[in-house]
Amino acid sequence: MEHSSVSLREITGYFDFWREVKQECINENELLKVFATLAESYKEYTTIPVEFFSQSLKVAFTNESVKYQLTRTQEKNILDRLATSTVHGKLKEENFVTIFQYWTRKCVSSLKALIIVDVQNDFISGSLRLDHCPAKEDAEEVVPVINRLIDNGSFDIVAYTHDWHPADHCSYLSNIKHHSASVHSSVNIDKLNLFDLVTLTKPVELKQVMWPDHCVQNSWGAELHKDLRKPDYDKDIVVYKGQCSDVDSYSAFFDNGKCNQTDLFLKLLKRGVTDVYMVGLAFDVCVAYSAIDAAHLGFNTTVIEDACRGVDLKSKEEMKSKFAKLDIELLQFSALIKN
Ligand SMILES: [Zn+2]
Repeated sequence: MEHSSVSLREITGYFDFWREVKQECINENELLKVFATLAESYKEYTTIPVEFFSQSLKVAFTNESVKYQLTRTQEKNILDRLATSTVHGKLKEENFVTIFQYWTRKCVSSLKALIIVDVQNDFISGSLRLDHCPAKEDAEEVVPVINRLIDNGSFDIVAYTHDWHPADHCSYLSNIKHHSASVHSSVNIDKLNLFDLVTLTKPVELKQVMWPDHCVQNSWGAELHKDLRKPDYDKDIVVYKGQCSDVDSYSAFFDNGKCNQTDLFLKLLKRGVTDVYMVGLAFDVCVAYSAIDAAHLGFNTTVIEDACRGVDLKSKEEMKSKFAKLDIELLQFSALIKN
């Protein structure tokens, strides 16, 4: 008979940690019963019956003031995480802690962050303005929509990201000669045009679109649009990405080679954020990559479609099918703000 590697005493210890975070929301005895039963289950089952698990969570994570919030997909995800966390039928302690901290938080209460991606001059009326890209979308139209979301969208936290490149950045066509040592040998760099795709080989092999110079650090083009609500630097999260010369960063969390990360994830985690809502520019590039990383990092992730504008209609559709596979929700502004 297999024994769980997590003892009841350890579970109680994790629970003490949790109690500090959300004391008022948990029915303590029921929660302990769930994890006790969970630990017991590993002695008898290789898998936990999903119905039992669902019922247990419902009992543990509801009381007079707390409504049960998990969908069946989320319940299934927790179970899958538990299943992949076992080694020879034993639940690994560090995985248990991760699951406990990420997932139970979602059961108990949600904390919502609005993430405003790259609403900067260059993407609106500057060198990489979206109305000159294939989809010909007017990026300025998102500004009043995002302002209304900031003012009336009931978000607990607002985060602003900036594309923020050094002047010698590898994504600029004008710089490609300076980066020739890392361009794949099959590419003739003299014949490259804007928006061509090249393969860069350092620091890791990556496809790179050749963009015009844009969002150079401290330039007008890198400033947030003048009519966007200004960040409150004491309260809001402000993130700068793409600061390394030799690798591009579409996602607000990681660079494209996953070599470095920004501090966005840690800042959201520290504040207890469970749900992220993505808006901004461009839908099929930085918004999409950020949303996909957010979903992989365990956040409930939503993209507010009409608070974004994109580069290319085909790649917008491709991103939407990726969202569907990752349970990333696509919402319209009107679903959150009533006129
Ligand atoms: Zn950029």
